[in-house]
Amino acid sequence: MRVNLKRYFLYLCRWQLSTPILAIALIWLSSLNKWVATIIANFIGGLIFFWVDRFVFTSKSLAAQWEVRDNIKCSDCGKIARGYRLVKTPNYDKTSDKAPKFRCEECSQKKAEELRKRGIIV
Ligand SMILES: [Zn+2]
Repeated sequence: MRVNLKRYFLYLCRWQLSTPILAIALIWLSSLNKWVATIIANFIGGLIFFWVDRFVFTSKSLAAQWEVRDNIKCSDCGKIARGYRLVKTPNYDKTSDKAPKFRCEECSQKKAEELRKRGIIV
């Protein structure tokens, strides 16, 4: 199984966001029975985090996987620099590219703009 680290990290951050919401709800509901208060707090959390989770798991903007490598020769300008290459999006897959092309930051931004216009990245 391949894990999209960006999604995974956002998901872990989202769990941290639920901490203060749960705490505030439990303080606010402290006069109630603990079980009832927890059920209501989780209900409030569910109302909010359904939308956050849906974004985390379905957002196309999080779907692009990039590979970063140091000291590459840019395939466009020839500069030796840190290099970037797009590996995978929902409609683009270069995971088994035998001769992957890396680009310097500047050229990779130009290339990304071109891919954005073609709808390969959003
Ligand atoms: Zn370049």
